[in-house]
Amino acid sequence: MTQERRNIAVLGSTGSIGRQTLDIIAEYPDRFTAWLLVARSSADLLIAQARLMRPKMVIIADEQYYEYVRDALEGTGIEVGTGSRAIAQAVTAPEIDTVVTAMVGYSGLESTVAAIGAGKRIALANKETLVVAGELIDRLLKDSKSVLYPVDSEHGAFYQCLMGERMEDVERLLLTASGGPFRTMPKEQLETVTAADALKHPNWSMGAKITIDSATMMNKGFEMIEARWLFGIQPDDIEIVVHPQSIIHSMVAFKDGSVKAQLGLPDMHLPIRFALGLPDGRLASDCRKMTIEDMTTLTMERPDFDKFPLLRTAYAAARTCGTAPCVMNAANEIAVAAFLQDQIKFTDIHAIIEKTMMQIPLVEHPGYEDYVACNAEARERAASIIKNL
Ligand code: MG
Repeated sequence: MTQERRNIAVLGSTGSIGRQTLDIIAEYPDRFTAWLLVARSSADLLIAQARLMRPKMVIIADEQYYEYVRDALEGTGIEVGTGSRAIAQAVTAPEIDTVVTAMVGYSGLESTVAAIGAGKRIALANKETLVVAGELIDRLLKDSKSVLYPVDSEHGAFYQCLMGERMEDVERLLLTASGGPFRTMPKEQLETVTAADALKHPNWSMGAKITIDSATMMNKGFEMIEARWLFGIQPDDIEIVVHPQSIIHSMVAFKDGSVKAQLGLPDMHLPIRFALGLPDGRLASDCRKMTIEDMTTLTMERPDFDKFPLLRTAYAAARTCGTAPCVMNAANEIAVAAFLQDQIKFTDIHAIIEKTMMQIPLVEHPGYEDYVACNAEARERAASIIKNL
């Protein structure tokens, strides 16, 4: 078994997944080195991380912070870069073994495409990459020695349930969802919930954007599309199961009637540790282990598609494919940002996404440039829909 030391690029190192990835790198200093750290605009945290982890290079995507970061790291020997081109260039460095894609939203696409082109192992935390451009990524992976390992906890669960199995024996994927903070709230009350209400996730501590996506259940729609590309399963063979305790991270149903589940505490360090251990094997840890008390209540229920209509939107977009999921994602990013700034109601998010999707023409077999154009157009359209609300 190879136990080589791996150089890791962490894209989005200052976000929730990025910070937890650095925890795991620090937990196994003889196995992993942080080689490249990339942040969008959190300059001070990036500087602090660089001083602690001593990477070869850091990139601050937002150019207005470049000189500030460069001056702060002067004399450390750490190279400092800026801009999205620099990120796409840096991930192809021959020294890098694994790229952890933990940036938020559409911004993850360009560098993931570059990393696939360079044949890197990719620990995929940026699910939007597969939502937006799954068809393209799927094609690119076929011509590359690059492999995608899921970091998302549900997809890590599918991966583990499928180890040693044949895909032709799989009948359905059962994608678990916590149900978010509004699971038990009557539908009418969703009209008046605030961003602060939506940011109170019952089980997982995550960034603001994904926490709102959990409250609308858009996140689960995204994860259905992510699973479709990662495991080559049709959208209608992926069933969403609400499991409020978030202990079962997902399940696979086989054609003989067997169902396999993967369990664990709701802590993102676990799926990150699993993904970084691949393909060598599991990494031993002193983390808190699950006890019987953690498993005394495990309940399941069907999702409410009327209360969370974005689930229906996501299945429809997945079936249509082409640029439909790209438009859905772009409109969602704009609508969520507006909701976080208290500019729109919670229930407007769905309306804005549906309206945007109706107004942007579908491209059936898009290439990279089509996604870029479609993303830009959908954002503009969604913003103007919000202005005219
Ligand atoms: Mg997840």
